[in-house]
Amino acid sequence: QAKRLGGNRFAFFNGEMQASVLERANLEADLHHALARAELSLHYQVQVDHQGATVGVEALLRWQHPRRGWVAPDIFVPLAEETGLIVPIGHWVLASACQLLGQWAQSPTHAGLSVSVNVSAVQFQQTDFVRDLEGLLAQHQAPPGRLVLEVTESLLMREPVRIRNVMLRLRSQGVRFALDDFGTGFSSLSYLKRLPLDELKIDQSFIRDLLNDKADAAIVDTTILLAVSLGLTVVAEGVETQAQFDWLKGHGCYRYQGYLFGRPVPLDALFAPPEVTR
Ligand code: C2E
Ligand code: MG
Ligand code: MG
Ligand code: MG
Repeated sequence: QAKRLGGNRFAFFNGEMQASVLERANLEADLHHALARAELSLHYQVQVDHQGATVGVEALLRWQHPRRGWVAPDIFVPLAEETGLIVPIGHWVLASACQLLGQWAQSPTHAGLSVSVNVSAVQFQQTDFVRDLEGLLAQHQAPPGRLVLEVTESLLMREPVRIRNVMLRLRSQGVRFALDDFGTGFSSLSYLKRLPLDELKIDQSFIRDLLNDKADAAIVDTTILLAVSLGLTVVAEGVETQAQFDWLKGHGCYRYQGYLFGRPVPLDALFAPPEVTR
């Protein structure tokens, strides 16, 4: 009986696997056209200081699939990375960010805001990445010091010497760097002193149970101390409650991002007054 069961299970698993392979192939084919068909857009989520004042925004990719509806970035970004599509898509994201920064530079109320952009390793490793970005900054007259590139620990581990050189070249123009999802990677902490980082973003998985989980609280507390002593700005991701906000503020973290302050929204809804509920 075990054998029969095993056989069934295998057949079932196999069928499922096949479905997911097909599913992936479909999604991949659709992603090839997504940019040209204007199915991709950017949402922006505010980053605030300890008084709740907006200091910047993070640009987050969205894909509205004609039949499936919204596809989560956690699904399509890895697909875009594997297929190399992240290069043109990432270029478009950077161009949009530079355009926004160029616009904001002309506005007294928005000129101080920064725009953070997630950059994939594949994109970062393109030989013309620096030239490409310099071109976009110049084209849109975007102040480089307002652009924050968010990189991950896994990216930094790839080609440490080359990555560092690219970062230094962009840094010399004023571009800033944030280490995203801090604490979820496997790398050693030595890159924190070797690389020109400005900001460290504590991953939301440590923030979620901050008030109930002693280990999470210890990790967050230590990360804040580490960041501060290295002269890095520390940003807490995924702040959803006032209690989390109070705890973080009390422990020396003064930058936050999360649903408590605003969800990612289209640009035109970013600074719109909250809807009146009746
Ligand atoms: P990330 O860069 O760490 O972005 C933060 C994620 O947390 C976003 O998910 C955001 O919507 C979500 N978030 C923000 N506040 C809260 C909160 O209070 N609670 C919870 N539960 N979640 C919150 P999203 O938009 O689904 O993006 C997922 C990931 O996809 C991003 O993680 C980033 O790694 C990647 N991604 C998004 N846009 C781009 C892009 O333009 N390029 C690249 N390479 N990756 C991108
Ligand atoms: Mg990010
Ligand atoms: Mg993150
Ligand atoms: Mg993430």
